[in-house]
Amino acid sequence: MAERIDLPPAARGVPGLRFSAGAARGVFELPVCEDCGAQQYPPRERCVRCLSERLVWREVAAAGELLALTKLHHSNERFFASRLPRRVGLVRLEGGAVAVVHVAGDVAPGERVALTARLDRAGEGVIVAQLQGAGHLDEGLMDEFTYPLQGRRVAIAGPVSAYREAILKQVLAAGAAEVVLIAGDDSATEDPRLRVVSASARGGQRRLAQSVGPVERLIHAPSFAEPAEVGSLAQAVARAVDEPLALIQALRPSLVEHGGAVVQVLSIFGRCYFPALGAQCVPAAAAVSATQGLRASLQPEGVRVLTVFCGPAVGGPALPLPAAAPQRVAQAVVRALDEGREESYADPVAQDVAEQLREDPELAARNLAAMSRG
Ligand SMILES: [Zn+2]
Repeated sequence: MAERIDLPPAARGVPGLRFSAGAARGVFELPVCEDCGAQQYPPRERCVRCLSERLVWREVAAAGELLALTKLHHSNERFFASRLPRRVGLVRLEGGAVAVVHVAGDVAPGERVALTARLDRAGEGVIVAQLQGAGHLDEGLMDEFTYPLQGRRVAIAGPVSAYREAILKQVLAAGAAEVVLIAGDDSATEDPRLRVVSASARGGQRRLAQSVGPVERLIHAPSFAEPAEVGSLAQAVARAVDEPLALIQALRPSLVEHGGAVVQVLSIFGRCYFPALGAQCVPAAAAVSATQGLRASLQPEGVRVLTVFCGPAVGGPALPLPAAAPQRVAQAVVRALDEGREESYADPVAQDVAEQLREDPELAARNLAAMSRG
């Protein structure tokens, strides 16, 4: 039987899950009472001050004053027991609520702190406080909340494209110790840290895993293949789903062993059909769904799945929206890992469509349809 992976406690009520959904996008949101203005922490369904049910989730000022600080030397949770001592504090938010937080760096009670909503190893939202203006989290917390590339073994997969090339360059620039490019071609980059594993050498999962070696980060460059180019819609769907899943399956033991992360770069039009783009949206939607399934199956094993959404691809059909620049997409991939952000948007189009989908999915679809008519 597989050894149980230690993860932080993940039980949350519905309001807690809503906080996690904001944290997944790196947004600090709390319910705010429409009647008396009170911010609610912990998130709840009725106002703590006036019992009103009229609570609205809003992004709130992510700053406050550290009221109290304690250093834990014992925990009954196995996950925390192996990460002691650790500091936990109480912060009074600018909006008045008092929250329990993880504390990073040297902070004393009375000092002002900046707060971030982050997903922990169990994929649930927690609050981390650090001195305003402080840079990276300290090492222990970085290991819990982020997936930096510095000194790590990274695999990059996906079809040959300007995106894959840009991602490769950014990953090397971010200080990866070793990069394995799972490719069907020779890469032009002559970096001693780069190793190219031929995609055609895929003689079963075990052999592929052996040729790739230990992996801590796996990045899938986007696949924007036109169904017509691939052969058929069914083949395009298969390529968008089967190949990435088979690869992740092969590298799964290594990713689990290292508490690693997978980055899937996906088209935002996999979440909402864009008539101007046509059948390309279908494999994109399949890839989005497969990624959600992947996240659900890898989360209990301590492997995080991060998605970076982007708008139209460069070199694709003429569209009424600007294409996502490859360098921008590559930077978004590195940032997602650096910040441990589960969902991010590489370009303004992806950001805009995602916002519309959150507000009104029906309207978002109509907007894209109207734009397609020109
Ligand atoms: Zn109230």
